[in-house]
Amino acid sequence: MEQIKITRAAVLKEKPDCANLVFGKYMTDHMFIADYHEGQGWHDARIVPYAPLAIDPAAKVLHYAQEIFEGLKAYRTQDGSVQLFRPMDNVRRMNQSCRRIALPQVPEDLALAGITELVRLDREWVPSEKDTSLYIRPFVIGLDPTLGVHASRHCQYIVIVCPVGAYYPEGLNPVKIYIEEEDVRAVKGGTGMAKTGGNYAASLRAGSRAEEKGYTQVLWLDGVHRKYIEEVGAMNVMFKVGGKILTPDLNGSVLDGITRRSCIQLLKDWGYEVEERRISAEELFEAARSGALEEAWGTGTAAVVSPIGELARGEEKVCVSRNEIGAVTQRLYDVLTGIQWGREADPHGWIMKL
Ligand SMILES: *Cc1c(COP(=O)(O)O)cnc(C)c1O
Repeated sequence: MEQIKITRAAVLKEKPDCANLVFGKYMTDHMFIADYHEGQGWHDARIVPYAPLAIDPAAKVLHYAQEIFEGLKAYRTQDGSVQLFRPMDNVRRMNQSCRRIALPQVPEDLALAGITELVRLDREWVPSEKDTSLYIRPFVIGLDPTLGVHASRHCQYIVIVCPVGAYYPEGLNPVKIYIEEEDVRAVKGGTGMAKTGGNYAASLRAGSRAEEKGYTQVLWLDGVHRKYIEEVGAMNVMFKVGGKILTPDLNGSVLDGITRRSCIQLLKDWGYEVEERRISAEELFEAARSGALEEAWGTGTAAVVSPIGELARGEEKVCVSRNEIGAVTQRLYDVLTGIQWGREADPHGWIMKL
């Protein structure tokens, strides 16, 4: 890999109050960019002062959503060092997303270096307050400035980073979830397995509708039968039913979450049976009515785990775990965040020290 050229910002920004951070609002002093041109490959890897991009108004990304992204965090440990959680998993998933959206894959060493070198340069921005971290947003965009519907021959891989606080500032409280029966997020053969902006655009309307009704997130059903549970908001979802853990399988329209993967591993370590399979909304409501549904939670990098206290479908509402955090949900949160912030042993080698 060629050297990364670094141009430092002449004036550094004032850092925000890290006790009251709004998610994704305060970008650091620098960003990473690499260009790709067909025939030339990836070139001009550089770190430059954070600034608006100048892109052609006809760029493909603006019209045809040729873009994919990733999300991971850098954590400040007790001894002041900085570490990442499973970054190569993000790099590999990013390339899987690129393949689906007809973007060029980013060589793994370049993709990782874009993340590690930017975090190293802006390491003073990694906050040390409880539950805070530096959120890392790598993304790839298609930039060809022509309106024809084709894959781009000029693309950019960019990384930006920003300090973030706990996803739910009021703490790990159970959220209310509304089962969305009209819109779907993704279908098999579509782009559900890719982390791409278009999936998010398709989800916004249902999210707003759920919020208007007083719910935090929507529970997505599959796009074909409209029966099977897929994800909750932009998180994967898990249930504890009759002592077993159930989670939707990676059927082609569910995102392969790294938090999901990590939770499944921990749950198996602890001796739980984990079933990855189709789960219908009806099966879930039936389990809730009979008392077999013990816990429900979402998993994702931003919130880590998010307990679910109420599920609603149309007029029917069911309460989960007496609207309290279940014991398994709490344990997953404690152990995963313990590993991420370096308070707990890391038996699976998930941590990369910077
Ligand atoms: C990013 C994302 C997740 C969670 O993935 P993590 O790797 O655990 O952060 C789940 N669902 C969707 C739709 C996502 O975009």
